[in-house]
Amino acid sequence: MSKPVPAINRYKADLRELSFLLFEQFQLDAILGKAPYESWGRDDIAGALVEAYRFVREVLGPLNAIGDAQGCKLVDGPQGKEVRTPEGFKEAWKKLYEQGWKAVGVEPEFGGAGAPFSLAILVEEMLCGANTAFTMYPGLAHGAADVIASFGTEEQRSLYCARMLGGQWGGTMCLTEPQAGSDVGSARTRATRNPDGTWSISGTKIFISGGDHDLAENVVHLVLARVDGAPAGTKGLTLFIVPKMRVAKDGKVGEWNDVSVGSIEHKMGINGSATCVLNFGENGKCLGEPVGGETKLNQGMPQMFKMMNGARILVGVQGISVASSAFLNALEYARERKQGSSIKQWKDATAPRVPIIEHPDVRRMLLDMKARVEGIRALALKLTVHHDYVRALAGKDDAAVAYHQGQVDLLVPLVKAYGSDQAFRVCEEAIQTFGGAGYIKDHPVEQYCRDSKIFSIYEGTNHIQAMDLVGRKLAQAGGANVRNFLGDVGKFVAAHAEHEEPKLAAAVKELGKAQEALTGATMKLMMWHQSGEIEMIPLVANRFLEMMAEVAVGWLLLEGAAVAHDKRAKLDPSHADASFYAGKEHAAIYYARNVLPTVEEKARRMNDEDRSPIEIDDASFATV
Ligand SMILES: Cc1cc2nc3c(=O)[nH]c(=O)nc-3n(C[C@H](O)[C@H](O)[C@H](O)COP(=O)(O)OP(=O)(O)OC[C@H]3O[C@@H](n4cnc5c(N)ncnc54)[C@H](O)[C@@H]3O)c2cc1C
Repeated sequence: MSKPVPAINRYKADLRELSFLLFEQFQLDAILGKAPYESWGRDDIAGALVEAYRFVREVLGPLNAIGDAQGCKLVDGPQGKEVRTPEGFKEAWKKLYEQGWKAVGVEPEFGGAGAPFSLAILVEEMLCGANTAFTMYPGLAHGAADVIASFGTEEQRSLYCARMLGGQWGGTMCLTEPQAGSDVGSARTRATRNPDGTWSISGTKIFISGGDHDLAENVVHLVLARVDGAPAGTKGLTLFIVPKMRVAKDGKVGEWNDVSVGSIEHKMGINGSATCVLNFGENGKCLGEPVGGETKLNQGMPQMFKMMNGARILVGVQGISVASSAFLNALEYARERKQGSSIKQWKDATAPRVPIIEHPDVRRMLLDMKARVEGIRALALKLTVHHDYVRALAGKDDAAVAYHQGQVDLLVPLVKAYGSDQAFRVCEEAIQTFGGAGYIKDHPVEQYCRDSKIFSIYEGTNHIQAMDLVGRKLAQAGGANVRNFLGDVGKFVAAHAEHEEPKLAAAVKELGKAQEALTGATMKLMMWHQSGEIEMIPLVANRFLEMMAEVAVGWLLLEGAAVAHDKRAKLDPSHADASFYAGKEHAAIYYARNVLPTVEEKARRMNDEDRSPIEIDDASFATV
């Protein structure tokens, strides 16, 4: 028999780092205390972070390994198969909503606290990091409710939103079908109008996260379906609200709506999250209604895009959440585990064993993880701060709103793709730091690594993100968004290239070189586009996204380092913050010297125009 899994929290967060980003680097105070954040001050935000961290350590963290070991089960219920979530998930769901941790950023109209997105996203980071699989359920319910709030009729908004945002009902997002993965437009699920004006839904969706569960009294599915006679491809898709149990106008849950669970997947990670095959209308009794009503037929994709943007930011944050905890766990282990003697005493067989943190290679791994985690979190917060400014300036300064919204749009694919790719790598590096202890289940890093792999696949694979960047986002607003981004980096370089600290000055110059290389690469993409060399664009898209994300992360790390340098200069070296600020400088310099030069190298690879992957025949890949 396998050992029972203990209910122990292993999630770690560094609250000092979070408050540095919010208040010292991004100076969120500037928009607090005023509409629409009039009820939020600095102390409220700091207090919320402390309490959220307490909540996740006490409630979600202890269930993470248990959920991983138990997974979800299918049992026989009155309407066929039903999902049972792991032990403790039901109580955790109840506490999550009772204590309001999913309502931090929700509009007061729907019972939320209306906090800045920058706070909500850090709370979300803690929820995800403590228990990624559990947090999928409320995450999808919120994403689906957000779409209904944005595009639903008044009746739909009042029937569904507060209930889905308050934990009474769950929610899902149903796009994927066996033949329609990245190619969403080939979806075959049908919607047929009945003589009484209702719509019957029929079809099968696969891989649906939280497709069924026992946490809430109902699950409301948002289903992409094709109305009879609609055009082929994405233009012919309509988004339908399809509850598992039918609901009356007063919100009472009624009879079963002919939505059944075919099976659940057995996966590499996020085992506590039920990934379902869902059959709609096997008995011809599944009814749905178009989001926004009858006038919104064939508007499914634009509506879904709204949900996807939010969901993509959250996936990047899922990445940061586990990577951060992986790093902090590795750091703790490296301070405790003794192995080998100091390299400085390599000739002395009797030299004392030292904690592995004293070995240069372990220090390299730790600093590498620190720089990536903190840099990507800064990138995600840069995005959310832009979003918070959009709300704060709405109706007051159209040009500023356009600038901030443009940066949000541009940064979404970077946060999703770079955040998720790097998360997997950081988790792998954390395992390496632990050695053999990292490969076994006594420590959380092997689960983090397995859980994190899906982040680069769902919500659009990272290649889809890269194509969104090079095919859509770069050209948005006539190219103004990317010009503004490059301009902002350029201004920082101009202001700090002669920094009084020579190592920081040199690092800023590295950023300048990387920014120039990125500008050249952007031109190259445009040139391929204009000259019709279209195949080169997808071939280099992932590399381009990585270059742009690295420039963004390098910039934000150095910006933080410059702030930290000034603060440290005013402190007594014995002050607790002195080493914190010094750490910010070291991480930024490390990233600038070890990662930013690779941006220039990648630009050279782009200029080299190697077409080998296109030129090789299919048969030449292998002889089998
Ligand atoms: C655990 C889990 C949870 C999920 N949750 C949900 C959910 O809640 N709702 C939902 O609707 N879906 C969900 N999905 C589905 C997920 O979004 C898809 O798996 C993803 O979009 C990729 O589709 P696919 O698996 O069919 O891969 P494919 O589309 O077959 O892709 C395979 C490979 O080909 C590449 N590729 C595909 N098309 C192109 C192209 N045109 N150009 C270049 N490369 C291409 C991809 O990038 C990838 O590398 C989930 C999946 C998993 C595993």
